[in-house]
Amino acid sequence: MAASIAIVGAGPRGISITERIAAYLGDRSEGLTLHIIDDAQLGAGRIWDTDQTRTLCMNTLAGAVTLFTEPGATVSAPVLEGPTMYEWIQALRGEKSHPLIDASGASLPEHYNEELRATRPESNPSRALYGEYLRWAWKVALAQLPDAVEVVEHHSRAVSLSSEGSQDAITLADGSVVYADATVIASGWVLPAPTPAQQAFADSGLTYIPPGNPVEQDVAKLPAGECVLVRGMGMGFFDLMALTTIDRGGRFVEDASARSGLRYEATGKEPHFVVTSGRGYPYLPKSEYHSLPPKADLSRLRAAIDASTAPVSFGLELWPALARDAYAEYYRVLARVRPEALSVPLDEVLTAIDAADLAAVASPDDILPVANALAKALDGMSSEPFDMAAWVDPLAGTEELDLEELNRRVAEAMEADIAEAVSAWDSPLKAGLWAISAGRKPSAIATQNGRGPREAALSQYMAFGQMVGSGPPLFRTRELLALFDADLVTFLGPSPVVQVADGEYTAASHSRTVRAAALADAFLPGPDIRTSPDALTVSLRDTGRVRPFAPGGVETASPETDDDTRRTVHPDGELDERLHIVGIPTGKQWADTTISPMPGTDPLMLQETDKTARSLLTQAGVL
Ligand SMILES: Cc1cc2nc3c(=O)[nH]c(=O)nc-3n(C[C@H](O)[C@H](O)[C@H](O)COP(=O)(O)OP(=O)(O)OC[C@H]3O[C@@H](n4cnc5c(N)ncnc54)[C@H](O)[C@@H]3O)c2cc1C
Repeated sequence: MAASIAIVGAGPRGISITERIAAYLGDRSEGLTLHIIDDAQLGAGRIWDTDQTRTLCMNTLAGAVTLFTEPGATVSAPVLEGPTMYEWIQALRGEKSHPLIDASGASLPEHYNEELRATRPESNPSRALYGEYLRWAWKVALAQLPDAVEVVEHHSRAVSLSSEGSQDAITLADGSVVYADATVIASGWVLPAPTPAQQAFADSGLTYIPPGNPVEQDVAKLPAGECVLVRGMGMGFFDLMALTTIDRGGRFVEDASARSGLRYEATGKEPHFVVTSGRGYPYLPKSEYHSLPPKADLSRLRAAIDASTAPVSFGLELWPALARDAYAEYYRVLARVRPEALSVPLDEVLTAIDAADLAAVASPDDILPVANALAKALDGMSSEPFDMAAWVDPLAGTEELDLEELNRRVAEAMEADIAEAVSAWDSPLKAGLWAISAGRKPSAIATQNGRGPREAALSQYMAFGQMVGSGPPLFRTRELLALFDADLVTFLGPSPVVQVADGEYTAASHSRTVRAAALADAFLPGPDIRTSPDALTVSLRDTGRVRPFAPGGVETASPETDDDTRRTVHPDGELDERLHIVGIPTGKQWADTTISPMPGTDPLMLQETDKTARSLLTQAGVL
């Protein structure tokens, strides 16, 4: 009988694993059955479904995503060079050819024409269009498989996995059972169990939208003209905002007299948003570089990483170096765009940055002392000093403000955020914060797989990097400010306490209180292997096929997997013979599991799918 491999989850990782399997097989003639299992659209998966509204856009850029390996990539199977998403769009526009596109063909329905025409490398494509690129890459991957491979598509959800002899028996929601000699689960964002508070909201009888993929959240339930409380001020919120304004017929119109640059033409169908989050401040808009973003100079961080040996303390060893890099980036740009703002030569500033004694204040528990010490070391050197600590907690010191004054300040600060994002290359602030954002990946790699303890300073930094570096495209921030100016948004402030009382929600941030008819959670909690109610995850737990990754004895939400193969580790420490898990569920062990592969970066995701494909074929007895 032919060997068989099951891929559970046909999003970007499932496709890439298929492509890497094809690369390993070349023109081999052994029989193999490849089972592809997903109840969402095969190839695009749940998040990039091509049938979704075109209002939702990627947070990454057309020229900065690819699903193909490049020469020099850290992979064992031959590289298959393919177009980035932007190159694929250029081919669709007839501007460029590519052997893979020539061989497979590529065309899209007419309704994409306008978007295709307008897309530039730095555009944020619609999620649906990225789904089309993925579906095309999926078709390419299938075409690369040798004739001896039979592909069986299963449009259903895997609900349990058990061992039957030397095979996995994967039961699907449609009742069928798939048998596999090796299995990989590439399930992406599997939601964890609701917290007790979320469950209480769900049971309250009031309108509650739990966390989820925005396009699957039931936003139709959010009532027009009434106060809707939203927790979360990152991409999930901006998605929800777009779905309940633009997709309800509202229009954002260019208006040079408006401080946001836009005027909102309401329909009366939109809710009034009361927005809050831990920080209470919206994620910062991305800079409008009119090109792909620059590379931040992280030379000090890289030197600190090179000099480090396990266990690496992020707070003590890496953060001081990264903070110096951010300060240096800020002052380099300031010296270029407004040299008069420096009261000493740039060299002197850079020397002071490197000479600042940070060892005495660096802490595994808090990133603020280092930021403050740097600001102090540079005191008097500039009339526009960088105050990084202020960006870690933008609403610090606003506890006593009433709602009106807080809102005035937040809106003014957003106006300044927009101006900085427009300045882009010429914004010292954006340069400093870009270094903070860019430091996340090397820091995560340096501390992954238990190499660095999970310090509070690391979590605090990652959340900071997320807010300053993973915010929305600039047009969404403009839209939010336009909605505020149309009296459709209120900012509540940080650290909300939400309760149900007298048939409505009340939310308090310090002394400010609001009432709302509905509550929406606009954030996406990560998967948790320990507590997930997802049927497949439950069966993995129940049958002892996984154990939580527990560096230093502290359990995390991720299943432990082996570095070389991504095979799971059993509670007794043995490697599973057949089961592999990749991607987002393993994010507490491995770095950089969230973002799609970026060209020119030897993406970890493609390294992972390559090693997983090799292990699947090995365990199935094909290699
Ligand atoms: C709303 C949202 C927006 C995002 N935007 C961006 C962005 O702009 N840029 C970016 O780089 N990244 C973005 N991401 C991150 C995104 O997760 C990754 O880019 C990428 O989709 C991860 O690929 P994946 O294949 O690992 O997981 P996914 O794309 O999540 O695919 C996993 C697939 O597994 C399937 N699945 C899960 N469980 C089962 C089961 N039991 N049986 C069968 N099938 C199953 C799901 O249906 C899904 O189709 C976003 C994520 C979300 C949630």
